[in-house]
Amino acid sequence: MRELTDRIKENGRVLGEGVLKVDEFVTHQVDPELMDAMGKRLAEVFEEKNITKVVTIEASGIAPAVYAAQALKVPMIFARKSKSLTMDEELLTASVYSFTKQVTSTISISRKFLSAEDNVLLVDDFLANGQAAKGLIELCQQAGATVAGIGILIEKSFQDGRQLIEDMGIPVVSLARIASLHDGKVTFIEEDA
Ligand code: 5GP
Repeated sequence: MRELTDRIKENGRVLGEGVLKVDEFVTHQVDPELMDAMGKRLAEVFEEKNITKVVTIEASGIAPAVYAAQALKVPMIFARKSKSLTMDEELLTASVYSFTKQVTSTISISRKFLSAEDNVLLVDDFLANGQAAKGLIELCQQAGATVAGIGILIEKSFQDGRQLIEDMGIPVVSLARIASLHDGKVTFIEEDA
């Protein structure tokens, strides 16, 4: 998606070890107009799939997920990374190793929000090694829900996430695909979602 790749070129910053910082418009400060356009684009791609829920993981997945859910006219659920005292219902849980924080956390969603009738679109800001996506897929599987696809803002295609998810038979759509982050420079795979 042109608006996103342009914005990454303008405001993205490459950190060491294959990490892209996009805190000007995605992960800390949020550009609502761009986020709205990206949510709408993901919704458009999956509009024929009869999505009933959009599911993401806190915190940076929430913004794109809520715009996609609004466009699809379905609820958005975000998996929590720490248990809240108010979560007294039965929980779906999975372990996720965080690429950026390098810690394993237990993610959870209240069972009451997902069921076997649900057809889920997963949304996240980044796809790296696919561990966050895999954890979300596990939560959906525990509920008996179907995962219809995954919509990602920024895919780092030099990592294994896409392969991992596609091997499960789940389609992956990314609005920007990064081929490399060498020498502080972002190189994209030139194709548009
Ligand atoms: P994965 O689980 O696919 O390895 O990593 C995805 C998660 O790690 C995303 O939810 C995102 O928050 C974070 N992440 C992975 N790579 C990057 C990156 O290059 N930059 C930022 N800002 N976050 C990343």
